[in-house]
Amino acid sequence: MIDRRNALKLALGSAAMFAAPRVLALDAKPRTRIVFLGTKGGPRVGTGASNPANLVMVNEVPFVIDCGMGVSRQLVNAGVPIPSVKYIFISHHHSDHNLEYGNLVYNAWAAGLSTPIHSFGPKGLEAMTRTYWELNKFDVETRIEDEGRPDPRPLLIAKDITEDGVVLQTSDVKVTAFRTPHPPITDNFAYKFETPDGTIVFSSDTAYNPKLAEFANGADVLVHECLYPPAVDQLVLKTRNGATLKKHLLESHTTTEDVGRIAHAANVKVLVLSHFVPGDFPDITDDDWTRDVRKNFAGRIVVAKDLMELKLPV
Ligand SMILES: [Zn+2]
Ligand SMILES: [Zn+2]
Repeated sequence: MIDRRNALKLALGSAAMFAAPRVLALDAKPRTRIVFLGTKGGPRVGTGASNPANLVMVNEVPFVIDCGMGVSRQLVNAGVPIPSVKYIFISHHHSDHNLEYGNLVYNAWAAGLSTPIHSFGPKGLEAMTRTYWELNKFDVETRIEDEGRPDPRPLLIAKDITEDGVVLQTSDVKVTAFRTPHPPITDNFAYKFETPDGTIVFSSDTAYNPKLAEFANGADVLVHECLYPPAVDQLVLKTRNGATLKKHLLESHTTTEDVGRIAHAANVKVLVLSHFVPGDFPDITDDDWTRDVRKNFAGRIVVAKDLMELKLPV
């Protein structure tokens, strides 16, 4: 895997002798790619990895999946202009997935947003959108009046998802939602992106769910959350509400061993581990994250890092 800057450098280095500049530009930007914007599970903000967010780019159209704290800054760091965002998908209403939803759109507006953003998410997203503009009414109306900016409110078109099925079809991409349990949350959706270069499935936060393997069957890339039980045990020792926290974590997430079972049953080409739980243990190595996955899945495994890019086709 080569990140965008290195890909550009390589392209410049090797192709300068042979290729016209137009070819260089095509080499530098694959038509379809995933950027892991924030890979740490949970709402706590730290100095390490950013909170959950992912990006799918198809023909330079950005699709943002989840809006944990830091998503705007991570888009900037990935070289994606925030006002170019066209679609936002929220998997569920835990704050590590929606806390920067409204602010992402605000930040797009602050940077010159002029085209609509369509957002999709479980029941409550439409209300959250209305409430966001109410919360920021003073600032927004002041800037419209004082700075001559366009009204951002009609540019954000939110839609609650209430059932499984296709939620978006563009000329390039079909997006399908699939409900998966994340106790105590039931309004929680995995998303499948069918692109011209392959199929990508994002698991959302989820308890071990064999039905998710059916939904992801044959996908090129499965981006799955994961929980590492030995670290949860260490976390419990350090935390006052440890026992309750452990119960919640084990019931609502998928252990690395079970992630392997899902990837194997779905027969995916590439399994990407992201949304690491616990997310604040810097001494957990990539080997730790993958060891138990490998017991059940023999395919390619990627341990996601912030701003890592995965180019499709894989
Ligand atoms: Zn989460
Ligand atoms: Zn969650």
